[in-house]
Amino acid sequence: MASVSRVGSLSKADVDEKLKEHDPRDHVNVVFMGHVDAGKSTLSGNILFLTGMVDQRTIDKFSRDAKAKNRESWFLAYIMDTDEQEREKGKTVEVGRAHFETEARRFTVLDAPGHKSFVPNMIQGASQADIGVLVISARRGEFEAGFDKGGQTREHAQLAKTLGVKELIVVVNKMDDPTVGWDKARFDEIQSALAPFLKKAGFSKKRVSYLPISGLKGINVKEGLREGVADWFTGPTLLSALDDVKIPGRDPYGALRFPIVDSFNDRGTTAMGKVEAGLVFEGQAVVLMPLGVAATIDKLFLDDETEITVAKPGENVRMRLKGVSDDDVKKGYVICEPHAPVHGVTKFQAQLMISNLDHKGIFTAGYRAIMHVHTADEEVVCERVLVELNPKTGEPKGRAKFVRDGALCSCILSLSRRTCLEKYEDLQQLGRFTLRDEGRTIAVGKVTGLPKSEVATE
Ligand code: GDP
Repeated sequence: MASVSRVGSLSKADVDEKLKEHDPRDHVNVVFMGHVDAGKSTLSGNILFLTGMVDQRTIDKFSRDAKAKNRESWFLAYIMDTDEQEREKGKTVEVGRAHFETEARRFTVLDAPGHKSFVPNMIQGASQADIGVLVISARRGEFEAGFDKGGQTREHAQLAKTLGVKELIVVVNKMDDPTVGWDKARFDEIQSALAPFLKKAGFSKKRVSYLPISGLKGINVKEGLREGVADWFTGPTLLSALDDVKIPGRDPYGALRFPIVDSFNDRGTTAMGKVEAGLVFEGQAVVLMPLGVAATIDKLFLDDETEITVAKPGENVRMRLKGVSDDDVKKGYVICEPHAPVHGVTKFQAQLMISNLDHKGIFTAGYRAIMHVHTADEEVVCERVLVELNPKTGEPKGRAKFVRDGALCSCILSLSRRTCLEKYEDLQQLGRFTLRDEGRTIAVGKVTGLPKSEVATE
């Protein structure tokens, strides 16, 4: 097995010194998930307003536009649509992004549109998220439609778990709707329907909380519930719940891992992404994997274009690079330190949980799919199924040439291009993935074995 250094190039004392240049507030990525029309955009827009990120003038302008179009209640959703303009400007952002701050934390909102065809975008968002907010519409009929087979509530929650979102806040939204009227019974009904499903999807009960809110009216979002609205609820507001969620496993002393989510040229080749491990700082020598191209970090910016000198794990940054051409910097590549590059492989061993296979019947050698791993989307083909495992215990059940829907198995996958991976046990963010075929997620997987490091030859 290849040995790749997992320690950063700076000494612990140097890392601590660098961190002093830094805003001490934690940076947290939030993804809003849920069925279309559950109220994700309205809620994200209102959070921006309530935390002072969008001023009254902008609100008035959007409100006027919305009124002119006879869609008054949509105006908060309009705010989130500013991403569209950003796309038009050519700074393609796969996942819409907005920022807000509290005293304790700095948040980035990774917006996940609810439409079915947006699931790959949702994957991109969730693969960077620390906290998932699952937005549920409490309105009669809407919760039911979203939670039915074919609704996105289930698929989003399952994907989010696979992609490493451990903390989930379920907001039961539209509690103000006339069909709901802040009724405790409706809130309880939704919670009882979701709880067993989320448990089965792998969320620990302790790490899921349920909050009744109205995203549209901003009730129980920043300010608590006024007396007489829903006195039966004694939990926190959404913003205080977001402030209190614990985010585990961020190692500034580890070897740098920065998967590129997007790149563009703005007075120099610029890479966007989230620091998964280690530190990035101005002037740092780096290497772009899997190509092995050397570069230097010229300038660092937060997503909102504030210049910074250093960033730690969990932060979304843009880095302008020296010594590379635009072609060297692509979505799915991983920026590392030269002494500790990530594995770049074309073949690996994986454990797969197969699902949604109804259309093809079996998973076996020759099965082709698209693998979504950190920020990369790559074609894979199953080279060989090795063994079938017991889905409950993970114990081997015996050799198998193929497996069916619902099976857990170990197999060898080969990639059409060299791709950056880590073993799941070493760094989850770079070792967990989904396989998609014909618009469905047919497997979720973990990287369990990598060949001796293949040196890039392209
Ligand atoms: P998305 O598709 O999940 O982003 O949903 P939108 O934010 O576009 O909202 C869909 C519809 O639900 C719009 O008509 C909103 O005005 C409405 N809506 C969103 N949040 C609330 C809420 O808290 N209460 C009520 N009554 N309606 C809401």
